[in-house]
Amino acid sequence: MVENKQNLQLFFFIAGFFLFVCLLPRFLDFTGAGMTFGAPLNEWEYINSLGVFPEKWQETGGELPVSRREALEVFAAIEGQEDFDNYSEMLEISGVFLDGNEAVLRREELYRLLARIVNIPADADCEKFFLKGETEDLPLDYLAQEGIIAVPPERVFLPAEKVTRRELVQTVARAAWPAFRITNTAVTVVTGDIHTYGKMEYDLQVLFASYHELLDLQVIGQSVEGRNIYAVRMGNGPVEIFLDASIHGSEWLTTTLLMKMLEEYAYHAHNGLLFGGYDVNAMLEEVTFWFLPMLNPDGVTLVLEGPEAVEHEKEVRKILLENGKNSFDGWKANIRGVDLNRQFPPNWHYLVKVESKPAPGYFKGNEPLSEPEAQALYKFTLARKPAMVLSFHQQGEILYWYYKQKGEQLARDRRIVQALSVVTGYPYYPRYLINGGKYMDWVISELAVPAIIIEVGTKVGDLGQWDRIWRQNRYVGLAAAELILLENRTRQ
Ligand SMILES: [Zn+2]
Repeated sequence: MVENKQNLQLFFFIAGFFLFVCLLPRFLDFTGAGMTFGAPLNEWEYINSLGVFPEKWQETGGELPVSRREALEVFAAIEGQEDFDNYSEMLEISGVFLDGNEAVLRREELYRLLARIVNIPADADCEKFFLKGETEDLPLDYLAQEGIIAVPPERVFLPAEKVTRRELVQTVARAAWPAFRITNTAVTVVTGDIHTYGKMEYDLQVLFASYHELLDLQVIGQSVEGRNIYAVRMGNGPVEIFLDASIHGSEWLTTTLLMKMLEEYAYHAHNGLLFGGYDVNAMLEEVTFWFLPMLNPDGVTLVLEGPEAVEHEKEVRKILLENGKNSFDGWKANIRGVDLNRQFPPNWHYLVKVESKPAPGYFKGNEPLSEPEAQALYKFTLARKPAMVLSFHQQGEILYWYYKQKGEQLARDRRIVQALSVVTGYPYYPRYLINGGKYMDWVISELAVPAIIIEVGTKVGDLGQWDRIWRQNRYVGLAAAELILLENRTRQ
């Protein structure tokens, strides 16, 4: 009796299992097209299972271009359209295809076909995956966000490209089966490469497109030759921290450093990951970082791209000659031969070790803040009132931090520079060095907040030192943020 009961249970279990397995495809296969058993193991298997091609498509033929006719057969099968002629005529009329009777399928056409079979919610909140190329009737970003189409590293949509079998198979399978969808994660944008003004602008656009929920891209002024001075905001906290670079043209490597820092901080915040033990995402509720990656874009352009690349070619050649130099490699100044880091008011009238006329470096100008780049930084700083400033320079692997602070301000700034010395491995300048005219000097005296110059590397413009410089400085912005938050809490 007991044995019978167990047999009966076993019978129902087995029968139930078979019923489940037979019905499973009905639940999984929402297109109702051709799938007979279970889920396909890969995209190629899925396409073959549609049964529209007499020969099986194999991965080895993946680079063959797809004809319009083939694509239509696939989509007709997915949409369960049995009257093929009617279906293709309907699509012709509805404007899915580009003009002309081309035999080969173009990418733009494929994406329109995909959009037909994916239900796009009216209020789709799209991330901006593509820099350009989106048209109103082509929800590129939605397809990318859903992982149906892959986003190329350059994030530019090429609508006229021929569609290969591989691309058709992958995208169609991803549209039909969510299990095949991919994650369009962030691509590494910034490597330890030279950042010309143009490359910096381009990378800023890509980073902004990738992390637009975290970043805000602003232009705070223009150089003498009309190049933009950018400021990138990250975070929404009340405590604002400036990170600036390349106020000196020859120190262009500091731009790459800030661009890399910008990307890594954004990447880790976006993905909720720790970076060097810091919870960047949580920090951004208390802190706002302002990245100013290139304060002297004309000077950087002169050094990296040569005098032919600037409008003041004649003038800079004359300045170089008059100062007895034969190379622009060491040019710190802006394009009029004014050292932007000698333009700030503190002690400006009494500066020592300065040039008396336009020069590749150390000419303070005819009056403080005479240059548009210095003015832009001055105004932006007064408007934002940062709680701390880190200015990146080259060279010497040392930190400067002092300008006439006294009492508690002096004690606080020394605590901070000591801690950052541990983070970077750079010693801080032990003596009280006063000259003036520098942005750091002005921030310390005007805002009474810590401002630190970080001199990276041991040789100006040596990319061979990139790995070392990156290792020493990658966490310094986050460490600075934590230190200033700690000081604020202690004071309260
Ligand atoms: Zn410098």
